[in-house]
Amino acid sequence: MDYQIIQMNENTWRIEEKGVRFFLLAGKERALLIDSGMQVHDARTIAESLTPLPVALLNTHADMDHLGSIGQFDEFYMHPAEAANYHGPGKLFPVEDGDVLDLGGRSLRVIHLPGHTEGSIAVLDTAGRVLISGDPVQAHGRIFMFGEHRNMETYIESLEKLSQMAAAFDEIWPSHADIPVKPDVIGELLAGAKDVVNGAVAGHEVEMFGHRAMAYDIGVAVLLCDL
Ligand SMILES: [Zn+2]
Repeated sequence: MDYQIIQMNENTWRIEEKGVRFFLLAGKERALLIDSGMQVHDARTIAESLTPLPVALLNTHADMDHLGSIGQFDEFYMHPAEAANYHGPGKLFPVEDGDVLDLGGRSLRVIHLPGHTEGSIAVLDTAGRVLISGDPVQAHGRIFMFGEHRNMETYIESLEKLSQMAAAFDEIWPSHADIPVKPDVIGELLAGAKDVVNGAVAGHEVEMFGHRAMAYDIGVAVLLCDL
């Protein structure tokens, strides 16, 4: 399997696959995988090779490129609004906006960011001042906003909410494209998404996995929207 393990700091790793990445965060008592790969199906085994602590799983959302190793877990954290977008095995432990997961001396706060999907969540490593954003915040990537479960209006509201929290983190670690990303990117995405909704930016039609979508290049990223 083609992946690369990159240690981010003493107790944090990212696992890079072609086109997508996931994260392992360790506390003093347990560790948390944030997503579990696309082609990788043994994320738990990889995690257990990096830490002796028990490993739990959190899904930022239920798109297929984030669920590769879901079969290795009997249960996982996910926002309940994402259940309609999830068709796999296992038991969902609901986590909602403001919930705090304690890994033992390391607190992670859940931030609900609907829009890309209804139940998309980001994870704020409070002391580390890092936001692990999932898909809603990316730089120089393509943000999928076409098809079922997407909503541009709620996406814009989520970016507005996040821009008001930007004093809480110094870096953003997205699931795709650039890493790390500066918090300024939130404002750039917000302005670009508003331009798309207001018709201020021209798009062009593209084919994505058998769907027709409109691609809007807003500079900081490409938003792929319904026609
Ligand atoms: Zn994704």
